Formats: sequence, C-alpha cells, structure tokens
Amino acid sequence: TPATQDLVAADKVLMQFGGLKALNDVDLHVSRGTIHGLIGPNGSGKSTMMNVLTGIYVPTEGAIAFKGQSIVGRTSARIALAGIARTFQNVQLFGEMTALQNVLVGLHHTYRSNLLDVALHLPRFVREERTASARAYALLKFVGLESLAGEEARNLPYGKQRLLEIARALALNPELLLLDEPAAGLTAPDIKDLVVIIRKIREHGITLVLIEHHMDVVMSVCDIVTVLDFGQKIAEGTPAAVQANPQVIKAYLGG
Ligand code: ADP
Ligand code: MG
Repeated sequence: TPATQDLVAADKVLMQFGGLKALNDVDLHVSRGTIHGLIGPNGSGKSTMMNVLTGIYVPTEGAIAFKGQSIVGRTSARIALAGIARTFQNVQLFGEMTALQNVLVGLHHTYRSNLLDVALHLPRFVREERTASARAYALLKFVGLESLAGEEARNLPYGKQRLLEIARALALNPELLLLDEPAAGLTAPDIKDLVVIIRKIREHGITLVLIEHHMDVVMSVCDIVTVLDFGQKIAEGTPAAVQANPQVIKAYLGG
C-alpha cells in the first residue's frame, strides 16, 4: 500500500563520469518518516547520489522512484515541485538579499498570480505577498532566525547561513529533505541547534536524507545509515551497527 511504500526507491544506480563510476550499482531505499544517513569517505559518491535524486544528473543506468513514480529524466524544478527539497554542500544563498527574501524565493512556486497581477499590484498579488511573508517569517522562526529576518544573508554568521538554507528548502513544503553536510564548518553550539532542528523537521512528518561527516550527529539522529565507498554501497544498518562494521572502519582508515 502507499502508506508503507518506500518514499524513495533507487535501484542499481550507475552514474558514470567518463571512465569514473561515481555511483556503481547503488540501491537506496528511504522509508517514510525516517532520518536516513548517507556516509562514506570523501569522493565516495554521497553528493552525487543527492544530485541524481534531485535531477541535477541523470543516472547512466538504474531506476529512481519517488512515491512510486519514476523521476529519472525529470528536471530539477519538477522534482522540487513533486516534493524533494535540498541544501547543498557549499552554501548557496542570495548574499545581497535579506534572510526573509531568501526564504521568499523558496515560496514563489506557491503564487498563483499571473504577470498582470504582479505588474499592476492587483489584490491577488498583494494578498499572496502578505501570506508568503507571514509564512517566510514562520519558517525563519522555525530555525531560530526570526530576529535576523532583515539581515543580508552574506552578513550572517556561517552557522546561521546554513540554517537559512534549511528554512528556504522547507519553503518548498517538501515531503523529503536532503541535507548535504549541514554540520560542516559549524561550531559545537551551532551543531547542537542543528540537531534539534533536524529532529523537529522529522516531527513535522518530513523524511530526511542526511549526508554528514560528524559521526556524533549521525549517531544521535539517524534511524538507518547507508555507507558508500568508491561509489559502492558497502554497508547499511543502524548507526551502531555500521560504526562497528569492519568494512566501514577499513574504508575510513584506508581512504
Ligand atoms: P562525496 O560527496 O562522497 O565526497 P562526490 O559525489 O562529490 O563525493 O564525488 C564522487 C566522485 O565523483 C568523485 O571522484 C568526484 O570527483 C566525481 N564527480 C562528481 N561530480 C562529477 C562531475 N560532474 N564530473 C566528473 N566527476 C565528478
Ligand atoms: Mg560531497
């Protein structure tokens, strides 16, 4: 039934860049309501997996279904509208726009106004803008940034920029949120805040895939972890089980 069906079912995914198999025969099944970790040494294919899930790359071979429907070959925009939002390994904000405006960018897809409504400031557009602003504030509040709504994104401390990216991704109202190393470069107190926010996101019924190098974060929030090494899945299981897996330990030490 749809209720128990995997939210994401990626099967035998091959992503080839010239002679390099960045992903080699990878299966990734993500259950609804879980926080699914994706770990592995640098260059093991983690970000590439997020890129094929979001339509940035079309896999060379393999199947990817979201809610039971194939998304292979769909544009990133269509995949986002279908319910998959993400953040990037490197912060990608509009630096000269305020925190609020950055979230509003994520909300624009919800507007129904046509160009004339916008150009003439007709009531529908004015109303929609007001609703969008309220929602953007609510999202900033959700990640603890409401007091910084009017600050230019580039002036925010790095940890706050990463939270702002999460708020913008949530503006898409996704069913699945992909976070690519959200704790990278964060201070210990910022990481604590991030962990609380990740748990809150899941409590709202959003499924997460989390790429993360901080093992303490992975251990404390993930229900299940998939481990990649040189583009191949080498282990999958609970955080405790994969951490104790000799093949995983070898991959990290020998990487
Ligand atoms: P990770 O996120 O696990 O560190 P990536 O998925 O970024 O690893 O990269 C996996 C491998 O694929 C690396 O060897 C990387 O250089 C290669 N790769 C990623 N994207 C491209 C691309 N667009 N063109 C060529 N090689 C790429
Ligand atoms: Mg990466």
